[in-house]
Amino acid sequence: MDAASLSNQMNGHGGIQVETPIWINGQVVPLSQAKVGVEDRGFQFADGVYEVVRFYNGRFFTLREHMERLARSAAGIRLALPIPVEQIAQEMRNFLPLAKLSDGFIYLQLTRGECERNHRMPAKCSPTLLFHARPLPPAREPGEGEGVKLLAVADERWKRCWIKCIGLTANILAKDDAISQEYDEAVFVERELITECCTSNVFAVLGQTLVTHPVGAKVLPGITRLVVLDVAAKLGIRVEERALREEEVKRADELFITSTTREIHWVQRYNDRYIGQGRCGPMTTKLHRAFRDRVRAETAREIAA
Ligand code: PLP
Repeated sequence: MDAASLSNQMNGHGGIQVETPIWINGQVVPLSQAKVGVEDRGFQFADGVYEVVRFYNGRFFTLREHMERLARSAAGIRLALPIPVEQIAQEMRNFLPLAKLSDGFIYLQLTRGECERNHRMPAKCSPTLLFHARPLPPAREPGEGEGVKLLAVADERWKRCWIKCIGLTANILAKDDAISQEYDEAVFVERELITECCTSNVFAVLGQTLVTHPVGAKVLPGITRLVVLDVAAKLGIRVEERALREEEVKRADELFITSTTREIHWVQRYNDRYIGQGRCGPMTTKLHRAFRDRVRAETAREIAA
């Protein structure tokens, strides 16, 4: 999709086409008609989890991995899924053609549903599950485009970062710090150790070794991160999953971030420090090319609904 048709798709309603369809609790309705109650615990307490799943050419990429993480996140907040993840995946496959988009992502949200406001979890609840699609411009070619500028901020998040929960206040504040100082993304630092960014995972290339923080309490198990680690293993690249010191990051040969919507994106600057040669490095380009091959192979297999 070119820039003009993309902007035609994104009009009104906070950038989303008003009549775009949304799947909500088993019904498909125009977005403007979808309603969630004021007492929904997602609204009251951010008591919910979410997923962002990419599709290329009308076909999902790593849908199974995203559904597995959704199940883990839901279990992490002690919320039983209203329908099995296999059925959610099938509903998403059935829904995608209705969105009439070639390249984009599905945003999915699951909350504990509506009930009288009380911190105590309700004995019985009726979860709210919804998803809809949004367009993305065609992905950049590996190594092309501007690098990302990272601003280091204190990691003040909770210790269950493996749960992809909708309570994102610390991430939003960090992003705002970055944007307001003309950076693109915030990178969290805890006692001089790098954890991850506010919307992505982070990798450093030190010599011929790829290093990234282990997932768990402090880092979301990013699906793109998972694919990158797998691709790196297949390329015979040495990988270390350990915390990176700020000093190492500043002197890294290459630095890149990963996420579903950004794939692999090279980092140009960490605070005021240029990384490596100040352009996309060879290991990052090589991994991004291999990642793209993986996307092509998997989306060719994914059965269009
Ligand atoms: N870390 C955080 C805090 C994120 O919010 C995200 C994506 O939203 C990621 C990492 C990357 O995860 P994924 O590759 O699954 O998109």
